[in-house]
Amino acid sequence: MTLEVARSPEETGTSICPGCALDMPSRPGVLNTSDFHASPECWTVFGEVLAAEYSNAVLFGQVHQITVDAYAAQHAGGQHPDKSVGIHLCGLYLVFVRDVRPMAVAPMLHEIANSVDVWPEFPPPSARGSHTILDVALCAGDWETHVSTVRDWALDVWRSWQPQHRVVHELVQRVID
Ligand SMILES: [Zn+2]
Repeated sequence: MTLEVARSPEETGTSICPGCALDMPSRPGVLNTSDFHASPECWTVFGEVLAAEYSNAVLFGQVHQITVDAYAAQHAGGQHPDKSVGIHLCGLYLVFVRDVRPMAVAPMLHEIANSVDVWPEFPPPSARGSHTILDVALCAGDWETHVSTVRDWALDVWRSWQPQHRVVHELVQRVID
């Protein structure tokens, strides 16, 4: 019996995210309105974290880009296009390998998105890291911990993609360097 069958919402009232494995009580009526490979419950928590970041200039400047890139990269697979996964992995690479300020990442990703015609495939790694967006949501209101939690989670996600690090490096190098 697979984990999914054993823990199906019908049996237990819980939802397990196919991207990050976040295990939450089912929340009837919530939806995943994106292509990200996420449970509706996980997607809803992501929306709550984004709302907190939009409402705080420090959080927005220091980690918003990292939050989006980490969440996207952790939710590869399913309907999530390789181009989107690849772009967000480039974002994590720019921050953690090239030490680019998060606020400077978006224009670089825009340039990469417009320059690459054929995107490589990004098969999701078997392990997606040990942190989830819920760890960030639980920081509610503690901005310093929010920032450090996002960075820890995002670095963990970036490391989980180790088999694709070279591909990402080459993508960025071709366009930016
Ligand atoms: Zn998730």
